Amino acid sequence: MLSALFSRSAAKAADFSHLQQASVQFRQAVKSYGDHRVLNGIDLTIHSGEVVAILGPSGSGKSTLIRLINQLESLSGGEILIDGKATSQLTGNALRQLRSRIGFVFQQFNLYAHLTARQNIMLALEKVHGFPHAKAETRALELLRKVGLEEKADHMPSQLSGGQQQRVAIARALSSSPQIILFDEPTSALDPEMIGEVLQVMQTLAHSGITMIVVTHEMQFAREIADRVVFIDGGDVLEVAPPETFFTRPQHPRAVRFLQKVL
Ligand code: ADP
Ligand code: MG
Repeated sequence: MLSALFSRSAAKAADFSHLQQASVQFRQAVKSYGDHRVLNGIDLTIHSGEVVAILGPSGSGKSTLIRLINQLESLSGGEILIDGKATSQLTGNALRQLRSRIGFVFQQFNLYAHLTARQNIMLALEKVHGFPHAKAETRALELLRKVGLEEKADHMPSQLSGGQQQRVAIARALSSSPQIILFDEPTSALDPEMIGEVLQVMQTLAHSGITMIVVTHEMQFAREIADRVVFIDGGDVLEVAPPETFFTRPQHPRAVRFLQKVL
């Protein structure tokens, strides 16, 4: 079923073709909460324009890994470089600028319940990115069109399905024209019949050139769309491979066990 969706939407890939890209490099990145070390010195390079799926069991550190990239969490040690530039010491304007280059899509959508779809997108554009009202409105409608929701612009989140809310959240994440977009289990909170519409938007995005890092349990999506799979367990990157290799010939015993459970 997903394959059919994916191939049908390929023609729309140009929709997001204005987006640019950046590389992300983890260098001995450590994250601890108090005495609890949850990432043990990660070395990982994600190339500019690459689509990477992060897979691993619950509690393995996947969310922490991607939240470090836009500093929703702060590093305990090591460094993260974006386009070759260290980011851990950035503050103030420089940090805000970095964040505007990175979009984030959450499992629970995180839309403002008291704002319409259009207003949810405009808020970030006006307040964070300093867009004048009219320009923010034009951009918001354009983004809603790209995720197939222009006609829902004036709906409140409560009037939208989960799949539609997540598409609004994707449009909002794209509003600052980021170079990197991070997804943390974007379809895990959705009813099964709504997963396809969100994956379809993500597939279109994957072809746009933007750097895309996706924590997901959608193995078929990872297999068909990702350039590489990163398998993480116990706070360590245990395997990095092209999806075909990972899914047919996993090397690490824990990757083998993980795949036996999820496939
Ligand atoms: P995953 O996304 O792979 O399920 P997480 O990155 O959310 O894993 O969590 C990795 C580990 O870090 C887990 O043991 C979790 O309990 C712990 N953890 C995550 N966030 C916090 C936090 N804010 N405070 C303390 N421990 C946390
Ligand atoms: Mg998580």
